[in-house]
Amino acid sequence: MNRRNNTYYELLDAMKGRGCPVCLLLETYTDRYIDSLLYESVNDTNLRAKLISSGGFCKEHSKKLLRFGYKGYTLGISIIYKDLVDAYYKTLNVQRILSDRRCLICEVSEDMENRILEELIKNIRDYEFYEIYKDSDGLCMLHLSKVLAISKDREVNDLFLELTALKLKGLSDQLLEFIRKQDYRFREEPIGVEADSWIRAIEILKLK
Ligand SMILES: [Zn+2]
Ligand SMILES: [Zn+2]
Repeated sequence: MNRRNNTYYELLDAMKGRGCPVCLLLETYTDRYIDSLLYESVNDTNLRAKLISSGGFCKEHSKKLLRFGYKGYTLGISIIYKDLVDAYYKTLNVQRILSDRRCLICEVSEDMENRILEELIKNIRDYEFYEIYKDSDGLCMLHLSKVLAISKDREVNDLFLELTALKLKGLSDQLLEFIRKQDYRFREEPIGVEADSWIRAIEILKLK
């Protein structure tokens, strides 16, 4: 039996939520990381040096930082950005721009994503885990392709492919039902599981 860690249990929980469980758990991990980053940046000089050399954050994570700011994390953000703004200011003064920029949150989240994917692959043939995965919304196409790239086990890959095909078929039926009920003749019919099918379709097909 596999040794079970936090990721295992958190992945089980994520499978009970809406959308791709890997996306969901990665979101939780990234939020946790940003939370600690914004607290620790206040005192951790090594981390601050690392952030300066990273040159800042990508578009997606800049948006996320903005949301953290609105939630009250303004001190950590200001400290980090004071360093970054000064670094750009200095290099622009000598008419250079910081090179080799790489968003630190992207870097960390790639590692976290791999950890989650490996946990998923490792446990998928475990009966209890499999049953819960089977009832989940399934993997998005991005994470399905990553699973297939990481896993060397043909049987495991087939299993993920089969389950995803089933999910897509179910989703297709639900979308059809959703569309049908938009017709005035059927509008009085109560809405069922298809109510949020369009949301799940957007989520499951996202490419990046
Ligand atoms: Zn995903
Ligand atoms: Zn990023």
